[in-house]
Amino acid sequence: MTKEEFIAIYRKTNKQFNIVGIAFLTSFAGITFIAASILNFIKKHEVANWVRLVPATLLFGSLAFFAIMAWYLHYKAKKRNLTCSSCKKLLLGQLGNITIASGNCGNCGQPVFDK
Ligand SMILES: [Zn+2]
Repeated sequence: MTKEEFIAIYRKTNKQFNIVGIAFLTSFAGITFIAASILNFIKKHEVANWVRLVPATLLFGSLAFFAIMAWYLHYKAKKRNLTCSSCKKLLLGQLGNITIASGNCGNCGQPVFDK
């Protein structure tokens, strides 16, 4: 792939990671708040047993969802060839910056772009 192609894919992927990261932080804060409210309610009221599982389910469910999203973005980045052809390292984040600046893999130093 050429440098221009790499930069376009790198930017697109970085943007998606940022969106998922921000969505995770905001929704996790919201879910934590909801879970805490439910826990507070459970302490003060008699509730069915399944209600006691709701806060933990919400927290673990959201963690699992975002873990899958992060895994999926990694998978997409690999599919888009955002990897070093020599060492197969995923060239995202700091490694991607080094690759764009130097033209070489930030992990093994081999050239990444087609001439
Ligand atoms: Zn490499």
